Amino acid sequence: MCGKCCGRDWPVPVDKDERARIAAMDLPDVKIPVKKWFKNSFITKKNGKCIFSTCDGKRCLIHEKYGLDVKALACRLYPLDIHAWEDGSISASLRYDCPAVANGMENNIASAIVKIDQMADEIAHYRRDSAPFYSETIRPGLDRLREITDAYIAIFNSSEIPLPLRFLGCSELLTFHKQKENASDILEAEDFADDAKNLMDRSVENLSYMLENAQAASYNALVGFRYQLLSYLRNDNGLNLFSRFRRMKKHLDFMLGGTELEIAGKKLSPLLQVLPTEENAYEPYMRWLNGRLKSLHFCGGPAFGITFEEGMQYLLLSYPAVTVIASVFAEGETITRQDVANALIQLDYSFLRTKLYRNRNLKKGAAILTNQENYVTLLKHCTM
Ligand code: SF4
Repeated sequence: MCGKCCGRDWPVPVDKDERARIAAMDLPDVKIPVKKWFKNSFITKKNGKCIFSTCDGKRCLIHEKYGLDVKALACRLYPLDIHAWEDGSISASLRYDCPAVANGMENNIASAIVKIDQMADEIAHYRRDSAPFYSETIRPGLDRLREITDAYIAIFNSSEIPLPLRFLGCSELLTFHKQKENASDILEAEDFADDAKNLMDRSVENLSYMLENAQAASYNALVGFRYQLLSYLRNDNGLNLFSRFRRMKKHLDFMLGGTELEIAGKKLSPLLQVLPTEENAYEPYMRWLNGRLKSLHFCGGPAFGITFEEGMQYLLLSYPAVTVIASVFAEGETITRQDVANALIQLDYSFLRTKLYRNRNLKKGAAILTNQENYVTLLKHCTM
């Protein structure tokens, strides 16, 4: 293991049984008394790493001596994200904040199916996730939402259509169903996927024209998009109240275009300049996007109960966001696959995992940025 998941940024929750199990272990290499092994409901971290990791932070003493199965559920899960749904189904996706996952070394979920089943049973013992609503008023149920998601997956993966047009097409589809007269399709359309694909195919020329002739992104759209970027990159770990205030000031300056934002030691200009992309550079991003969509881990229980519509808006904005962040990591004159993987490691740490995404202003901002007028200008500004 690289040890990143056992470091400062990943608090490891443990329940009563896990605490008792671990406290009974004979671990002489852990140099602090057993009564200090846990702090509230978490494993204690010291000098930025878990007290059960070896000096170099790369091996787990519990794993070494007793094996994988006795570790806390949170340790066994990572880098998987598993959810047990209220209808008895389960879903799993991978966390791209894990460098091995982002770099494509750890992607075979199917081979872990037995383990996933077992862990899903454990999770279901604590909680089951409620089905997302499509929007505040439309409640199609999980099966229907999976059908609708499949339609979006088909469009996002239409490799014959340039990537920005696929995203623009999906934003148009989302907007189409926001209109009262079309909303009934969500519940009733018999061939939702076919209808959506046909609509997309008929619109390609028009979308292409829209993109080519898009105006420059407005000042307000850029401020709003910088606000979204801050939420995608949020990390509160190790910050006391004073540093949070200092950060708030910096973030406000960044949003208003006055200062650069620091990301993993690199600087992101508020002008959000992007570089051209190499062929296949988006491969890690498409893997990530497909994982989120297929598992539905972008709405409902896995994402603080936000609706399908809201989750889809955040996904649509993740594309320009990843491009902008990848440009920061690029060493050369183009964005490479590695730059996109590095961007995902940053973005997926917070993406739909902080309560901020439930914030009314952020949701409202995402709705405004993904409307036809703004989204096309953002795509032009950030991805072309
Ligand atoms: S208990 Fe082991 S796997 Fe879990 S965080 Fe600590 S070192 Fe990592």
